[in-house]
Amino acid sequence: MRRLSRQVWVKHVAVGGDAPVVVQSMTNTDTADAEATAKQIADLARAGSELVRITVNTAEAASRVARIRALLDGMGCEVPIVGDFHFNGHRLLSQYPDCAKALDKYRINPGNVGTGRKRDEQFATMIEMACRYEKPVRIGVNWGSLDPDLLAKMMDENGKRENPLEADEVQREALVVSALSSAERAVELGLSPDKIILSCKVSGVQDLIKVYTDLASRCDYPLHLGLTEAGMGSKGIVASTAALAVLLQSGIGDTIRISLTPEPGGDRTKEVVVAQEILQTMGLRSFTPMVTACPGCGRTTSVFFQELARDIQCYLRSKMPEWRKRFKGVENMNVAVMGCVVNGPGESKLANIGISLPGSGENPVAPVYVDGVKTVTLKGEHIARDFQLIIDDYVTTRYQQ
Ligand code: SF4
Repeated sequence: MRRLSRQVWVKHVAVGGDAPVVVQSMTNTDTADAEATAKQIADLARAGSELVRITVNTAEAASRVARIRALLDGMGCEVPIVGDFHFNGHRLLSQYPDCAKALDKYRINPGNVGTGRKRDEQFATMIEMACRYEKPVRIGVNWGSLDPDLLAKMMDENGKRENPLEADEVQREALVVSALSSAERAVELGLSPDKIILSCKVSGVQDLIKVYTDLASRCDYPLHLGLTEAGMGSKGIVASTAALAVLLQSGIGDTIRISLTPEPGGDRTKEVVVAQEILQTMGLRSFTPMVTACPGCGRTTSVFFQELARDIQCYLRSKMPEWRKRFKGVENMNVAVMGCVVNGPGESKLANIGISLPGSGENPVAPVYVDGVKTVTLKGEHIARDFQLIIDDYVTTRYQQ
């Protein structure tokens, strides 16, 4: 069962409560380059990101945020923008009111707002700005920038206990305490609890599960989930999926981000696709028609089958921005691309549309099944094109509003 949290509105997007788990992402452009940043935000939003975070790290960056919003509005892109602040957020939000107004949420890292008395003052300034402009905040604690004073104090106290905890237990507790005490302080300063989202990101799967399980039991704020510094390629995807799946299955998590390191020149939208696929394969949300494909084996002797599975998946994703507007429920469609007669017809009958390609030694024909019924047998050079046309036709007739 989903943990019942408060609901926080980030512009038009609901986070927590009974809202579906929200997908978010973060740009990696220089925010001072308004054009490049607006373009990447629009790309991420088109891929399905429902919130997009940008770093606001310098005066130049802060001075360009309103321009970025204007560029997005000009493109018809309404996605909320979240400003990520560290060290100088209090100054930037105070000195650049257009930036403070244009952002839809502020991310505050309590470990990076200053030290000693300055920390309290600078944190208070950021909360004051959130109150003034009626913006929600995410209090985002991170393992790599945990408040050193708090950790030292808790380690010290632990050392005096009769049965001291292990150091990693104290560190996990310090993360949770940092998030909860910062939220408490924000409320004391006047911010409504309905404007607070919490996160406690770490880079280890087991630590993340422990920290969020604990945090979820100690507050009713919506929680943003993410394995920080997940890494590159399959390692990042597997680690993020392993951690988030356990938490989501326990009903924990109201918004997620997959922190993948892109390959050089790689596509930033990959992190959005992975986040959606986690939620969709777990049956929590639907975003894009899914392709069921067998892994292939010695019965498939050509790459044709692999190419078709890949091309159909890419085609379905590329059509979704348009289909989403015109065809209600199309995101629930299931398409099967199977390599031979062993499991091909059976799996194809279970999908909305399925094709069973000929394995080696089989008659070179490909029966197509629509809603469980064999409708046509494709053959020749244009199997891929013909199958795509069948999908188009199915979408148009079945999901027309
Ligand atoms: S469906 Fe056929 S080609 Fe695909 S894995 Fe099974 S036996 Fe191999």
